Amino acid sequence: MEILCKVKTCTGHYIVRDGKFGVFAGCSEFPKCKSSMKIPELVENFIKEKGIKIYCWGKICWKCSKTTPVISYFLNYELEELDSYLGMLGPIGLGDLESVDRLLEQVIPSIKECYSYTTKSTYIANTCEHCGSLQGRNYVVDDPHEIITDLWHNHDMEKYLYGVLSVEEVGDLSHDLRRIYS
Ligand SMILES: [Zn+2]
Ligand SMILES: [Zn+2]
Repeated sequence: MEILCKVKTCTGHYIVRDGKFGVFAGCSEFPKCKSSMKIPELVENFIKEKGIKIYCWGKICWKCSKTTPVISYFLNYELEELDSYLGMLGPIGLGDLESVDRLLEQVIPSIKECYSYTTKSTYIANTCEHCGSLQGRNYVVDDPHEIITDLWHNHDMEKYLYGVLSVEEVGDLSHDLRRIYS
């Protein structure tokens, strides 16, 4: 997977480089081509081409002990195929991309808006489909012990694939991407 250079006459693609002013994406044809983009823009272009993959698996609820689906995206996992550096900037999942979270909330009944008395704000999280108990804001990202081996070591996530959201469906992500990747 490569993001092709914006310069029409150039056959290069963007690679992540570490420069004087931090990490950026520069054309592989440098110094012949000096085209570059910031990391959030590179990620946005990646999503334009590939969409955002949504994963789902069964988790035993800590409260009622029944199996309930938990759903998230793992953007940093996807970005690994672009560059391993981007894969390390994570985990990025449910709770990080607002418009994606809103979409998931609309179509998946167990994903709900919750209110935190600690931070006095709302957030989107997985809840148990049987007893409704919260599975934690970052539960699916920080603590998916049963799939972390498949995710990071076996690269065997296809069996958890639930669907792919296109950039048309999720809309403008640039605000969230700038916050995460700048
Ligand atoms: Zn170029
Ligand atoms: Zn439960």
